[in-house]
Amino acid sequence: MTGAAHTEYMRGYRAKNRDRLNAHVRANTAKRGRLAAFRSKRLALACDPTAVAARFWSKVDRNGPVPPLHPELGPCHVWTGATDNPGGYGVFWLAGRLVRAHRYAFEMESGPLAEGLFACHHCDNPPCVRRSHLYAGSQAENVRDMVARGRQGGLGHTKAAAS
Ligand SMILES: [Zn+2]
Repeated sequence: MTGAAHTEYMRGYRAKNRDRLNAHVRANTAKRGRLAAFRSKRLALACDPTAVAARFWSKVDRNGPVPPLHPELGPCHVWTGATDNPGGYGVFWLAGRLVRAHRYAFEMESGPLAEGLFACHHCDNPPCVRRSHLYAGSQAENVRDMVARGRQGGLGHTKAAAS
């Protein structure tokens, strides 16, 4: 290959690569655009209260057990999704964060809990997300609930503990 031919060849090579690079950049830009659209759609879905509530309640069994010590409360609405152990509380993905299901149920109906307050159970049943079975309590009340649960062994054993 003569020097002139080689120069010409390299010019063509660079031009060809530039085209390829440009095509690559264009394709990536389009891909990023699609990805951004997908992310914003997913985020919108994650932030849409109606969609979130529908997803939440699809994981709830409204025919749970009636609390033996508080039958007047009616049946528990039991979380059937994932739970965290050893607490046994339901957990729920919300916009990329894992939240306690019963706390979310409480806040969905009554607004955000004040700093230092917890969603506690009248029914002593950790996976229960029924709003009327929940109350806003302090850390002390939350711990007292857990101690009571430990002593009674939870809902399944309250009869034995009470007798
Ligand atoms: Zn309950």
